[in-house]
Amino acid sequence: MILRRQTRKIRLGSVDIGGDSPVSVQSMTNTDTRDIDRTVAQIHRLEDVGCEIVRVAVLDQKAASAIRGIRDGITIPLIADIHFDSRLAITAMEQGADGIRINPGNLGGEKKVERVVDAALCHQVPIRVGVNSGSVEKDLLERYGYPTAENTDGLIESALRNVRLLEKYGFYDIKISIKSADVLTTVNGYSRLSKLTDYPLHLGVTEAGGLIAGTVKSSVALGLLLSQGIGDTFRISLTRDPVEEIRVGFELLRSLKIRQRGPELISCPTCGRTQIDLFSLAETVENYVQTMETPLKIAVMGCVVNGPGEAREADIGVAGGKGVGIIFKKGKIWKKVNEKELLEVFMAELMKMEEKGREISR
Ligand code: SF4
Repeated sequence: MILRRQTRKIRLGSVDIGGDSPVSVQSMTNTDTRDIDRTVAQIHRLEDVGCEIVRVAVLDQKAASAIRGIRDGITIPLIADIHFDSRLAITAMEQGADGIRINPGNLGGEKKVERVVDAALCHQVPIRVGVNSGSVEKDLLERYGYPTAENTDGLIESALRNVRLLEKYGFYDIKISIKSADVLTTVNGYSRLSKLTDYPLHLGVTEAGGLIAGTVKSSVALGLLLSQGIGDTFRISLTRDPVEEIRVGFELLRSLKIRQRGPELISCPTCGRTQIDLFSLAETVENYVQTMETPLKIAVMGCVVNGPGEAREADIGVAGGKGVGIIFKKGKIWKKVNEKELLEVFMAELMKMEEKGREISR
């Protein structure tokens, strides 16, 4: 079992971060925030797959004013991501943002930071101090050089300096991120930072890449940190539909046995023994599983060599044969179905089990 590092707890809308609260999974929209309908629609898709916190980019006053409409249309906490302009942060909080992400050092001076802190205290909104390798202040870059795996001093000092600035004005509802595009810089930076502060940490590898590269980089970096008990919330950044970020996030937590959401899907890679169209079946099941909440174990296997063994262990499983599929439930053969009807029969049974699971948990 992984022992979590002790951090302070902060409250972000309806979600606690840090302390004994579960490691939360978040994402960021890629719609134009000023387009309320499209942004809300994307957040609904994120909510459907379990997203617990969502962030939107606030580039101008129109986007800051759109926060109210977005907030009213969704159920999960909403964070406004702001750079450079303190007025946008204040408007976003007035419009109902549950949290803001800023880099206090780029807001244009202490007076402006103080105004943002006053608004955050007034609206009881926590602040993420979000520092990236690319945003480390000039004087720190001159002193420490650009952050690398061997030298994360500038990144850490930048974050702590910005935290001190908020503390100076009596603000402590803080979480911190120090993101880098480099895996080892991320791991070393957060490992060191976790020994220097007890504020909750938001993990992430910035600009991680597309689905495969981004998933690998984020999983290695965040996996190493989470396995050491470091990290209270995170975003997997992918150049993709943000829904994929949530899917990867929960698989990461499941693989480390930190959290489980919905069913566990086991599927074989297929080989020369496969005699049914397993890819279509596995893909359809995988897509449906993302929307399920019941913690079932589901197996989709290609043949009768290893298939029945895994399928038997599962709550529901299928093992392919020649033009047929054998469906198992709770360890027993339930039905032998022609390949043509297999998908329909298997999915219908899965939906029934999900419905039953939801009824029991109600
Ligand atoms: S379960 Fe069967 S089809 Fe799938 S990889 Fe194993 S041997 Fe091949």
